[in-house]
Amino acid sequence: MSDAARFPPAGTCLFCGRRPGATASLTFPFWSNRSDEIRILVVPRCGACESVHRGQQLASLAILGACAFVPALLVRLAPMSEGSRTALTVVAFIAGAIAGVVLVAWRERQRAAALGTKPAHAVMEHPDYQALNADTEGWRQRSGPGMSTGDGINRRRETVAECRRFFANDAKALAALEQGCRDAGVPAA
Ligand SMILES: [Zn+2]
Repeated sequence: MSDAARFPPAGTCLFCGRRPGATASLTFPFWSNRSDEIRILVVPRCGACESVHRGQQLASLAILGACAFVPALLVRLAPMSEGSRTALTVVAFIAGAIAGVVLVAWRERQRAAALGTKPAHAVMEHPDYQALNADTEGWRQRSGPGMSTGDGINRRRETVAECRRFFANDAKALAALEQGCRDAGVPAA
C-alpha cells in the first residue's frame, strides 16, 4: 500500500483520519547535528483522539509496571540460592518488561480501534517521523549533549499548544513550530 493510501491528507488527524488536526496535534522537535537548526515535525491530531490517548496513558503505565515488577518480585520470594535468584530476577524483569510492551501496544491498538482511531504509538509509522528518527547523524531529539539513547520508543507527547509554551522564549523554535504547522496543515494556535 502506498503512503498516500495509508495516511490521511494534510491537516487531517493521522489517528482517526476523519477530523481536522487541532492544537492537540503532536510535535516532535529535532535538533540538527550539523548546524544550530531546529525542525519541529507536527503530526495532525484532533481533540477527540487526544482524549483517547491521554486516557490510555495511565492504564498503559500501570500495566507496564506490573509486567516488569511482578515476575521479578515473585522470583525474589522463591526459595533458591542467592546467586540463581539474582540471575533469575534480572531475566524475569527483562522478560516481564518485554511482555508488558507487547501487551500494552496490543491493548492500545484494540481499544483505539474500538473507538475508530489508532493509538498514539501509531505516529512511529509516519514517514516523516521515521525519516527524521532514522537520520541519527543529521538529527537528534534532545537539545543538549549527553542525552539518553532511549529505548527506541519515543513517548514524547507534547502538543502544539504545549510546545508553544515550552519554547515561549525561543523565537527560532517558535518559527520552526509555525513552519511545522504549515507543513502539516494544522492551526498553529
Ligand atoms: Zn482524530
